[in-house]
Amino acid sequence: MPKIQQLSPHLADLIAAGEVVERPASAAKELVENAIDAGAKNITVELQEGGMTFLRITDDGCGMLPEDARTAFLRHATSKLRTAADLEAIHTLGFRGEALAAISAVSRVDLLTKTADSPLGYSLHLEAGKITEEGEAGCPNGTTIIVRDLFYNTPARMKFMKRDSVEAAALLSVVQRLALAHPELSFRVIRDGEVQLQTSGDGRLLSAIHAAYGNQVAKGMLPVKGSWDKYTVEGYASAPTATRGKRDLQIFFVNGRHVRSKTMCAALEEAYRNRIMVGRFPSCVLHLRLPEHLVDVNVHPAKIEVKFLNERDVFDCIHYGVKGALEQDQGQVELRFSAPAKAQSKVAEPKTDFFRTMTAEQFRAYAGAIKDAPRPQLTRTTVENTDLLKPKPVAPLQKASEPVKKAAQPPATSELLGQLPPFEEEQDRPAPFKAQAEPPAERSSIQQELVLPKAEAPWRIIGEAMDTYIIIEQNQQLLFLDKHAAHERILFEKLRAQQDALASQLLLQPILCTPEREDHALLLENLDILSDFGFSLSDYGDGTLAIRQIPADISESEAQSLLLLLAEQLRRGKKLEPGTLRDEMLHTIACKAAVKGGMHSDRLELQRLVEQVLSREDLKYCPHGRPICAFMTRSQLERQFKRS
Ligand code: ADP
Ligand code: MG
Repeated sequence: MPKIQQLSPHLADLIAAGEVVERPASAAKELVENAIDAGAKNITVELQEGGMTFLRITDDGCGMLPEDARTAFLRHATSKLRTAADLEAIHTLGFRGEALAAISAVSRVDLLTKTADSPLGYSLHLEAGKITEEGEAGCPNGTTIIVRDLFYNTPARMKFMKRDSVEAAALLSVVQRLALAHPELSFRVIRDGEVQLQTSGDGRLLSAIHAAYGNQVAKGMLPVKGSWDKYTVEGYASAPTATRGKRDLQIFFVNGRHVRSKTMCAALEEAYRNRIMVGRFPSCVLHLRLPEHLVDVNVHPAKIEVKFLNERDVFDCIHYGVKGALEQDQGQVELRFSAPAKAQSKVAEPKTDFFRTMTAEQFRAYAGAIKDAPRPQLTRTTVENTDLLKPKPVAPLQKASEPVKKAAQPPATSELLGQLPPFEEEQDRPAPFKAQAEPPAERSSIQQELVLPKAEAPWRIIGEAMDTYIIIEQNQQLLFLDKHAAHERILFEKLRAQQDALASQLLLQPILCTPEREDHALLLENLDILSDFGFSLSDYGDGTLAIRQIPADISESEAQSLLLLLAEQLRRGKKLEPGTLRDEMLHTIACKAAVKGGMHSDRLELQRLVEQVLSREDLKYCPHGRPICAFMTRSQLERQFKRS
């Protein structure tokens, strides 16, 4: 029979230490959080060899008296909880009085600390959690803690450490996020003598983003501000033209704590739906605030996952907040003469594999699941920018003479909100623009899609370059409009606004088409869906299909290749939620139906296209997220000619 023994306190400390301190980054996080709690304004983190051999955190906070400094290293020693009532704070802030005990148990620690009232400071040296030297010392107000030889007495843990560069990168990203959580404090990270991060502490989140991730990232950010019931969201999200190939810069805070949340990521990405290309991801730094009782922050110091009582409210708050920001965006890219500077890649996340493997589709499926989740109650909503949250009525882009079909709701909004109306909608809200003059009798293919709004500032078309780019002068700027991208977006919005089946045209002669066998079967299985998109076809025998009707916007020559593209989407779409599949298929139809770059357009066609783009808020990107319009300012030109 094995004899039961109680663990020695030292062994118990080592086990506890393993939970709190996993790697240099987690030690740094605890120590910097202590500095923040101590009211520091300036915090410096220095590290050598990834923080394994040397880690020093210096703060100008309140410091400790000698007696407190000694007790601070005991387990369960904290100045932050005194009564049982304070226990609530464990759930919110995670004070457990464990960090210093844990870190000192697995390293050699030097502490130097002084309060403003004491003439002298105090110093302590600890080895494996035991104080070995102490005494008065001259030092500035605040606290400096040096952690050397982390895990020197726990070789098993040591083995798990990665390369210094990886540990250093993890540490940097921890401090970056603390800096983003506290733009009012100045943070500095110095790795092997080199300054890797320096924030100003001017209180502005954008300054902190700039300091952490560089000019390129900061410049691509749009401000986000919104609220939803008791929830508020504030921060920045990237313009659709400033997306990334991965999700490494989707940073969320909940009540000031950095968290990872699938719901928040999904809400963010949903806001970019139809605005960015598949495979591109938005970036953000967003602060969500909500009453503490609606969130369950896992207090394990190493974990940052979070649970919300009502995922749906969180989703809505982020989704509409970001969407509002995107709607304010001008969406025009600036043309430059010189090559743009190489994107700064200061982002030093070792491998944020969280969600890295998730595709956009999986996220959308996730978003769909949230939508279907039961919703306890929908309470009153307030918004900073009321326009942000209201589903914008998309004016149906139809021939002005045609009767207006069903009122169009942006599908993303209505889908997300399921059956529930998101707010009391104002019925009398004016449409963003109205149909005006009757189009002239003879209309080209572009003109037919367009109603004629009045553009705000006067403009004139200078001409069309390369049969592709329309050049326009407006407000002392030259605008370059990609006519295909613009037309594609206009058509896409028009098609998407139609809730019924797309209009179709009957062919005098059926088109015969012989797809691959798999597609042949798939197309025949999906005749219903295809008829919603304006196609009617039948089996012609021998693996051949007869296409009898095609979408009204499509020319006969495009019909077959479009059908095959739709087959491909149906094949992939088995895993998609229906709304996404529909959007993707509409993209394809819009792309096929749109006027092509390189094809000649007459002046009137160009005129109509420009009128649409310049007067409508929602036409900023083609459905794949490429910008529709680029601009060049007068001063840019003047600089080229050395006039200014
Ligand atoms: P907790 O932060 O959960 O209270 P820690 O072990 O991290 O536990 O710290 C123990 C105590 O040491 C804190 O409650 C605080 O009183 C004191 N302390 C730690 N770091 C600092 C610091 N940088 N400045 C002033 N006091 C500190
Ligand atoms: Mg602490």
